[in-house]
Amino acid sequence: MKVTLRKVTKTPLDFVVKSDEITFKGYLEYHGGKLILLKANLSGLLEKSCDTCAEEFRMPVNEDVEFFICDGIYEDDNNTELDVVESFNGMADIDELLSSEIELIKSDYHSCDECKHSN
Ligand SMILES: [Zn+2]
Repeated sequence: MKVTLRKVTKTPLDFVVKSDEITFKGYLEYHGGKLILLKANLSGLLEKSCDTCAEEFRMPVNEDVEFFICDGIYEDDNNTELDVVESFNGMADIDELLSSEIELIKSDYHSCDECKHSN
């Protein structure tokens, strides 16, 4: 799902995208300047290999995600240090944002239930 950023207004624009067993559900809302707020919940089951025994397992996830999408280069004039993703084609690709969120979760250290219980 792709959203044209300049069409996002103060009225929240709902979206739902799915990837395998993960659902990414939330909204986009115009924040100000070149910034669009994205607020969403990512939930479902994630296939991952255990960081202890390397066995594949399915990990339940339920994460609230919140960041800004900038239509162009983000200049942090006020040093607000917001969490910003820049877009250079005027679009927000929700599927792509979802895959990078999934990669982020996967890159954390996670062990399967068996390894957790044997500690
Ligand atoms: Zn394990």
